[in-house]
Amino acid sequence: MSPISQPARAQGRIGIATLPTEATIPSATELRRLATAIRLRAVAMVAPHGLGYLGQALSAAEQYAAVYGAAYRPGTDRVVCSPGHYVIAAYAAAAETGLIDDAALASYGQNGSALEAIGTERSPVPEYTCGSLGQGLSAAAGFALGDRLAGRDGTRTFAFLSDGELQEGQVWEAAMFAGHHRLARLTVLLDANNSQVDGPVDSVTTIEPVAAKWQAFGWDAADLDGHDAAAIAAALAGPADHPRVLICRTSTRHGLASLPADADGHFIKLPPDLAAMAAAELSIRLAAEAAGDG
Ligand SMILES: [Mg+2]
Repeated sequence: MSPISQPARAQGRIGIATLPTEATIPSATELRRLATAIRLRAVAMVAPHGLGYLGQALSAAEQYAAVYGAAYRPGTDRVVCSPGHYVIAAYAAAAETGLIDDAALASYGQNGSALEAIGTERSPVPEYTCGSLGQGLSAAAGFALGDRLAGRDGTRTFAFLSDGELQEGQVWEAAMFAGHHRLARLTVLLDANNSQVDGPVDSVTTIEPVAAKWQAFGWDAADLDGHDAAAIAAALAGPADHPRVLICRTSTRHGLASLPADADGHFIKLPPDLAAMAAAELSIRLAAEAAGDG
């Protein structure tokens, strides 16, 4: 059986039929609830393995909530998840918005599952993902130019990138290409969590000033609190004359007080006792947010 529920995919629980405007963006409360639900699902996905890419879901939850909850139109738009290990956040968001079912999500990272822990060319949900980092923006720019040439002027491409990827030269080739062609239907969401596998990004290779770099390549750049889902959703809305990048300042620990102080940002150990504590913390918050108290 396909892991994707096609009827659910066609409908999309929070799916929308037209470009988002101020009026159609879910409330800040709803987007906050969605981000918490993404974190809770990510904990449940990592728990059976005892460790995994939880930090990526914690830092990017609001970005995926904003795209899947307020902007992405299944069957029309495209999502590129450039760092393949971030698919955990895409899968969690897709489950929350009705694009995949709970049984598929429960198979995450298991032998034989289509939902591999690092995205591949076979992965569902994002239209494109890649395991060697730094390649996703090239695909996204190609999608955006291809859609324009084919007359699909309404189609948008959302590309999730990580800050560590900016150390890859291919990213800047693609940025130059997209700026030159003024691919205004292309939006990058950059998870600026200052974390990569070898440690803090700023201890490996300085990437700042990030906004000025993108602007120099012909992009509109916004630097914002990456844990403010409503601000991200607002930044995604509206017309653009140039490709745009949302530099989302985040933390790999955000929204989960249960994590020990020495938890690694790239690959978090989640033994059963910590998993239970984390799930309880997030369940309580989710219930409060659902009741309008969050
Ligand atoms: Mg990072």
